[in-house]
Amino acid sequence: MPFEQAPPTLDNQYESDRVLRSYLARVFPAEILAEIEPSLSEMGRLAGTELYQLQLADRLNEPKLTQWDAWGNRVDEVEVTPLWRLAERIAVEHGVVATAYERKHGSLSRVHQCALAYLFTPSTDIYSCPLAMTDGAARTLLASGNQRLIERAVPHLITREPSEFWTAGQWMTELTGGSDVGLSETIAKEQPRPANSDLRAFRLYGRKWFTSAVTSQIALTLARPEGNPAGGRGLALFYIETRDENGRLRQIEINRLKDKLGTRKVPTAELTLAGTPAQLVMGTTDGVRNITPLLNITRLWNGISAVALMRRGLALAFDYAKKRVAFGAPLSEKALHLDTLAGLQTEAEAAFHLAFYVAELTGRSEAGELDEHEAQLLRVLTPVMKLTTGKQAVSVASEVLESFGGAGYVEDTGLPVLLRDSQVLPIWEGTTNVLALDMLRAIGADRTGGGARGVTPLQSFVTRLVESVHDPRLTNLSRVVLEALNHAASWFEETKDRSILEAGARRFALTLGRAAELALLIRHAQWSQDQERDGRATAAARRFARAGVDLIVDHSLDDVRSLTQP
Ligand SMILES: Cc1cc2nc3c(=O)[nH]c(=O)nc-3n(C[C@H](O)[C@H](O)[C@H](O)COP(=O)(O)OP(=O)(O)OC[C@H]3O[C@@H](n4cnc5c(N)ncnc54)[C@H](O)[C@@H]3O)c2cc1C
Repeated sequence: MPFEQAPPTLDNQYESDRVLRSYLARVFPAEILAEIEPSLSEMGRLAGTELYQLQLADRLNEPKLTQWDAWGNRVDEVEVTPLWRLAERIAVEHGVVATAYERKHGSLSRVHQCALAYLFTPSTDIYSCPLAMTDGAARTLLASGNQRLIERAVPHLITREPSEFWTAGQWMTELTGGSDVGLSETIAKEQPRPANSDLRAFRLYGRKWFTSAVTSQIALTLARPEGNPAGGRGLALFYIETRDENGRLRQIEINRLKDKLGTRKVPTAELTLAGTPAQLVMGTTDGVRNITPLLNITRLWNGISAVALMRRGLALAFDYAKKRVAFGAPLSEKALHLDTLAGLQTEAEAAFHLAFYVAELTGRSEAGELDEHEAQLLRVLTPVMKLTTGKQAVSVASEVLESFGGAGYVEDTGLPVLLRDSQVLPIWEGTTNVLALDMLRAIGADRTGGGARGVTPLQSFVTRLVESVHDPRLTNLSRVVLEALNHAASWFEETKDRSILEAGARRFALTLGRAAELALLIRHAQWSQDQERDGRATAAARRFARAGVDLIVDHSLDDVRSLTQP
């Protein structure tokens, strides 16, 4: 018989996910978990079977832009691939956005929704992107208090009926900058008010340089009303309905779709707004501040996608290790191969607990349950979680590919896409550096408004978490967390030079992220020992503590400058 290599396969991605199931068992009351489990199990089944098979079959398909019809008319139609069409229907029918807004289980509905998104995302080639922005737009409109827009758009964004569903775009980045959006050049020109309307009408003129899922029915975008000052404060937040009643784009030209490293199913376009009708969402200034609820939600989705892609890579790697034989035994019996995978599992498990903890806090914030300290914790942990998990996803995906040997580098295994798609996670929704600086703002590094808040809210939270631990192995690990946070706190307090603070911001933010991950892992490990008689989370915590938590070190700025000279 010629040699045949069995490929990796997936089972029900909910049923076999120890980390997710154990976490949900801790966080949800048993009767609620019993109620939501069928939805999770069904999503896990779809993700491991139909959706995954279609994902593999859809591999070479990409969205297509048709700019002109046969008769010379500009049409700018974008057709997405079969996988995305199915993904949209499944997402809507299974409430991958809606669950968070129906709030059947109060603030925990956000966690339920994130668990659905986590299961759904890896088999849909980043259909999570339009869903994240749709979710963020619903949250932003609800927060705006603009009743007219809330009634008009939100029911479509959170529906479970596919024919009623709208997705939303988030059009911020311009050629001048995605990080420094205050440089945006799009102008909003006010129009004469129609006689029978009390609404102020605007038309937008400018270019948007990265607009993902350009197929969306609405978009939230930034533009500068004529006469407003330069900078972020002079921008206003606008609402756009992209197509008219005949399905034609409203003075929007799709110049081209981006040719990207990954997220190739996502139609990311360059647009010209050539007089696009738009409505103010809330006021004629402070657009950057007013769009923040959207960014917080898309950053949460980013973290959930990061842990979802890590889980997918590992599910395939574990399965393959049982099927691939080398030097007389399956890889799953080779100590070094197992040790490599255990390291990746540890990173994924730690990241999982941070991403889902931010989901918990987000749900509680939406339900109005957070006190001032917890609100501050959420403000700090959102960028910290996004940047920490994004980095982990890329490094885990890279190692996952290597764990398949050459097959991991070959496209029709369906594996390389894991690395390419992970690579976007540290870039969009704010790069690692930009979020590290945002985190500095969150802890009051500008030392205005009553002085720096510093790391204290995180320290108090972590201290409370680790105090509940009684296994001596875990209490030892708690010291690693507290020492890392103490070091971070003193570094922050003592670093008065702004350039040194900025230069160290990424290491500082990653230290906070990894310390929070370890603390959450320790808390879960104790619970899992006590309630499930399972020591695997403890093993993950032990390994994670040794993998490096405190990354803070000051490098001389002279060295930094000299090393970056040609
Ligand atoms: C696939 C994809 C889809 C996207 N979809 C959308 C979308 O739908 N809507 C949208 O609005 N945007 C979208 N973006 C854009 C994305 O959000 C931006 O690319 C990102 O925010 C970075 O902006 P930039 O590309 O202009 O880079 P720049 O802002 O030019 O940044 C370049 C580098 O400089 C660093 N940097 C910037 N400022 C500082 C600083 N003060 N200190 C230290 N380092 C700094 C950054 O970290 C980065 O490494 C998408 C991007 C990608 C790749």
